[in-house]
Amino acid sequence: MSSSFRAGWHFDNSYAALPGALYVRQNPARRALPSLVVFNAALARRLGLDGEALQNGEAARVFSGNAVPAGAAPLAQAYAGHQFGGFTMLGDGRALLLGEQIAPDGARFDVQLKGAGRTPFSRRGDGNAALGPMLREYLVSEAMHALGIPTTRSLAVVATGEPVYRESALPGAVLTRVAASHIRVGSFEYARGIGELPTLKALADYAIRRHHPALSGAANPYLGLLHAVIERQAGLVARWMLVGFIHGVMNTDNVSISGETIDYGPCAFMDAYHPDTVFSSIDDQGRYAYGNQPAIGQWNLARFAESLLPLIAAEPETALKLAAAAIRRFPAVYEAAWLNGMRRKLGLLDARADDAALAADLLAAMQAHGLDFTNTFRALTERQTIDHAAPDIQTWLTRWQARLDNQPAPRGEALAAMRQANPVIIPRNHQVEAALEAAVNDGDLAPFLCLHAALARPYDDTRENTPYRAPPLPSERVYQTFCGT
Ligand code: AMP
Ligand code: MG
Repeated sequence: MSSSFRAGWHFDNSYAALPGALYVRQNPARRALPSLVVFNAALARRLGLDGEALQNGEAARVFSGNAVPAGAAPLAQAYAGHQFGGFTMLGDGRALLLGEQIAPDGARFDVQLKGAGRTPFSRRGDGNAALGPMLREYLVSEAMHALGIPTTRSLAVVATGEPVYRESALPGAVLTRVAASHIRVGSFEYARGIGELPTLKALADYAIRRHHPALSGAANPYLGLLHAVIERQAGLVARWMLVGFIHGVMNTDNVSISGETIDYGPCAFMDAYHPDTVFSSIDDQGRYAYGNQPAIGQWNLARFAESLLPLIAAEPETALKLAAAAIRRFPAVYEAAWLNGMRRKLGLLDARADDAALAADLLAAMQAHGLDFTNTFRALTERQTIDHAAPDIQTWLTRWQARLDNQPAPRGEALAAMRQANPVIIPRNHQVEAALEAAVNDGDLAPFLCLHAALARPYDDTRENTPYRAPPLPSERVYQTFCGT
């Protein structure tokens, strides 16, 4: 295999300089016949990569793991996690961090191959990924990015040319994931769990360096880190709630310190509004239901706080007091972010005391009448009405209209804000599933590419968007989504 690279890689792997307990060096599995399936030219440009050079053969070699660019140091990260509430030691069982691509402007981006083969953390897994779930992550993560929500991104999907065995044989694939970093709450739980204080400190210092460099001079940088991650996660979950996104597996190993959405397994967007909505086939208790996400977010950050305790203060009681006070802030931080976003969705450009009640009453009416979340906000945006004659909805519309008329900002300004806050389209599950089925079963990528292109401009009312506005017919409804494992 030739090892010439022309795409402009500029790799470092700063994680490999951390204490050895935090990772295991591991080369990707060699793949027989890799071929490029999708490639994100815009993201490649952002990373300072030459997309043309990549697509002329280098992409399949690098994004399959068959060739590793200079400066990269493939490794599996060690981490732990609370999975559905229970603590487990985990680690990258099928993903390898190549390192950080340093973009021309100096920004660092983690580049990770997901589905790159077995690692010491694979447990009973095969280290592989199937094409359908990797295309799903590509589609939904890029849609989230276009919606303006912090997320890991997807640079490429390569088919390995090898089957992976689940209930049946499926085409294997590798996803190239790009992130601000792959440090998770679970990374800290792991470092705390092995009982090596210097390792925990090194990880915390590293997270501060990468994500909050301003904290390094603070009086208590580790307490500062906790507060900063609370801010980011509370803001992130609020953003999810405002577009009807359900992550599906909010385990602590899937909570990123960078505040990016990570790990698109059984995630889905809600059609009809109901806070109990759950899609994940493995979430039979509804732990990660739509309406539980803020509370679970706080719970997950409490696990982060526990991991940081010995760094926050030498005296355990002091540390606990400081950490608990930080965690108690989560609901208020979340509520403020959510209400801010909800005001924009409703075109409320100033703040009034009963705005939260106005929003809550709309949601209650939507729930009572099974209204589509996205299309209801879009109807308010485009026509300032909801096509439903129910008295509670009509009463609410009158109240809302009066509220709009009583604010100093002109109506046009309110509507412009609403157009920026209420997407025309989201990746609806039935459309995602149909696109993946065509790609995987029929080798027809066209529906996937059309949906992907439309989702790149989710707030625009375009001709490409129109077919994707429709909620599922009863026969099209998807009730369950499955992990890609
Ligand atoms: P996830 O549910 O995707 O967040 O994965 C949870 C854990 O299982 C992580 O440590 C993964 O690396 C690991 N894992 C998932 N699928 C596989 C697989 N096919 N082979 C090995 N490890 C896996
Ligand atoms: Mg995970």
